[in-house]
Amino acid sequence: MSLGWKDQFADAPDVLKRSHCDRIVVHAGDVSIGGGDFVTMAGPCSVETERQLLETAERVARAGAQVLRGGAFKPRTSPYAFQGLGLEGLKHLARARSATGLAVVTEVMAAADAPLVAEYADILQIGSRSMENYALLEAAAHTGRTILLKRGMVATVADLLRSAQCIASHGNSQIILCERGIRTFETATRNTFDVAAIAVLQSVSRLPVIADPSHAAGRRELVPALARSAIAVGADGMIVEVHPHPDEAWSDGEQSLSLAEFDTLMDALAPWCALRIPETVA
Ligand code: PEP
Ligand code: MN
Repeated sequence: MSLGWKDQFADAPDVLKRSHCDRIVVHAGDVSIGGGDFVTMAGPCSVETERQLLETAERVARAGAQVLRGGAFKPRTSPYAFQGLGLEGLKHLARARSATGLAVVTEVMAAADAPLVAEYADILQIGSRSMENYALLEAAAHTGRTILLKRGMVATVADLLRSAQCIASHGNSQIILCERGIRTFETATRNTFDVAAIAVLQSVSRLPVIADPSHAAGRRELVPALARSAIAVGADGMIVEVHPHPDEAWSDGEQSLSLAEFDTLMDALAPWCALRIPETVA
């Protein structure tokens, strides 16, 4: 029997809703994602120094973030750009977790690195450029860690759900989906933030969905508006880039908020969060 427009998602059966309130709540340390609260993940694009990470972690925790982000393995468009601190960066992240109690999310780029990254992180991030790297999806799934799966920049919603299905088919359903903007003809933003994709995913999928307003916007002054729209459309959380000195950041400085700007954002979002209707009760 045809399901109509939802037919296009039919080959991702394990991550589709079977009934109205059929939702997976995902766990990372003490944090639940998709359980009703809007969860904020924040931190620098790249882990640069222990001091930079600790200073950021302490401030974002105080402002209400529950998860610390920071790349130790960085997918850079240029082979000459900073590629990340690797293992040293993972160690800085683990120390920041001990100091602040924040859970940690960091990207894994290679299947062979998955067990190592899983030793240090609560959530393994699969970046946009890796969404269709099936060997990586399998290796990440087998670590048993929660996975943050970012939408590929030229991936449809159905493609994203097929990659989630790939992870689930390897026995791991602790998956968070992330809308981070897609490639279109538009050049005013770094990527085109597909707010409707969040609504579609909340309608058809059992998995929590978060937004990445930083990589969508590409410019820090646009981040608050995109964050508000993510809350309004029913996202379960967001991941935001924050740096103590954005203009000196080793990657993605133009879209990173300063510590003070992040404080302001979190204060400004509080009333929006209070009005939010979580998908669990929608
Ligand atoms: C990042 O989170 O810093 C990143 C590289 O994200 P994306 O894969 O969405 O480009
Ligand atoms: Mn980045």
